[in-house]
Amino acid sequence: MSSHEQTFIIVGAALAGAKAAEQLREEGFDGRVLLFGSEAARPYERPPLTKDYLRGESQRENAYVHEEAFYADQRIELETNATVTAIDPGSSRVTIADGRELPYDRLLLATGAEPRRLTVTGAEFDGVHYLRTFADCDALRSRLETGGRMVVVGGGWIGSEFAASARQRGLEVTVLDPQPLPLERLFGAEVAAFYRDVHRDHGVELLLGEGVEAFEGERQLTGVRTGGGRVIECDFAVVGIGVAPRPQPAEQAGLATEDGVLVDASLASSDPRIYAAGDVANAEHPFYGERIRVEHWANALNQGPVAAQAMLGQAVRYDRLPYFFSDQYDVGMEYSGYAPAWDEVVFRGDPAGGEFMAFWLRDGRVAAGMNVNVWDVNEDVQALIRSRRSVDAAALRDADTPLDSLLDKSTAGS
Ligand SMILES: Cc1cc2nc3c(=O)[nH]c(=O)nc-3n(C[C@H](O)[C@H](O)[C@H](O)COP(=O)(O)OP(=O)(O)OC[C@H]3O[C@@H](n4cnc5c(N)ncnc54)[C@H](O)[C@@H]3O)c2cc1C
Repeated sequence: MSSHEQTFIIVGAALAGAKAAEQLREEGFDGRVLLFGSEAARPYERPPLTKDYLRGESQRENAYVHEEAFYADQRIELETNATVTAIDPGSSRVTIADGRELPYDRLLLATGAEPRRLTVTGAEFDGVHYLRTFADCDALRSRLETGGRMVVVGGGWIGSEFAASARQRGLEVTVLDPQPLPLERLFGAEVAAFYRDVHRDHGVELLLGEGVEAFEGERQLTGVRTGGGRVIECDFAVVGIGVAPRPQPAEQAGLATEDGVLVDASLASSDPRIYAAGDVANAEHPFYGERIRVEHWANALNQGPVAAQAMLGQAVRYDRLPYFFSDQYDVGMEYSGYAPAWDEVVFRGDPAGGEFMAFWLRDGRVAAGMNVNVWDVNEDVQALIRSRRSVDAAALRDADTPLDSLLDKSTAGS
């Protein structure tokens, strides 16, 4: 069948879905491209939703993945407010919430993830917020304009960035986290202590080692009761306790799923005509030799196009190293790699000075690296990880030893 007679359907109109649609046209695919999204807005990027957009310093226009005219210009049939409710791999058809059934030749699942919800008493009160969408963010943006006192539940990325933005807007902020330190699971105690101090220095009250027992109030939130029995009075709360990949409609379609849609290195699912990309994809990673699911912007940005190429029959594999960035107050950072476990964290530079790098070493090799207010080093960090070379921790620590001198030139970047 020539490509103009084919229909490719993309479920999920956010970063991964929109970049996949763009790539299909880049590659010269001239069949139908249908892009369905549950949200009202055309595809947008979420990082500004804890940063400049949340603080009222930028507008929606800056967050969109493409100009409005892009979709019509590229003959991408974008439908917003349109949820795909079912997939039937047997007849290769999807069902839309309004009852339409549409056939596909290839299908991409870019359905992302959604916030995990708290189920404690009062979780349904007005004033208990989550943050994933423009709609969520617009409600919180008004809260920041009003000011007052707030509680952040969860000291992960969303919680930490939200706390920073709320402080920047002058609110009184308490962060509650059952871990001894914010971000400790990912970073370990030493780097997590750096972030704790950054927040304390900016006036955030950190209640660590404590979870939420209940929300107080009557329909309207008035306070948060901690596991330790303290009640923190507040005008509103934001819950950031992680996200879960959206299991539907992949599960209902009978695709192999486990913490997301299981895909191979070409992002193909257990059904060879259905692919997955972005937060929902639990993908076989050629470098690591295992499946990993990455919940970060760069992964959605880059996996979408690779999925598009795979849908067109190209022999591609997604093998970029995980990468993410975060901005809190005047602290910008990038993190590359994957280090579920490590033996040692090595610092280059002094965290107390606010500019440093950290490396997570496993069996003497760099598994992950992070640069904080130090720039243009990310390529070297990634090359070090890819080299799988044993590194001398003392040389890694020594800021006068250039990072690229630690690389084995014969294997770096391979
Ligand atoms: C507030 C916030 C700040 C962030 N900041 C950073 C950051 O600083 N750095 C970083 O690296 N990452 C950041 N991230 C993470 C990053 O935004 C995500 O990794 C990225 O959005 C994933 O994109 P995606 O396209 O895979 O999925 P999503 O963005 O989750 O989008 C999936 C879309 O699919 C739609 N959908 C789902 N099911 C269906 C269906 N059945 N039918 C139709 N549509 C459907 C959803 O409504 C949604 O619009 C942040 C995330 C949030 C929420």
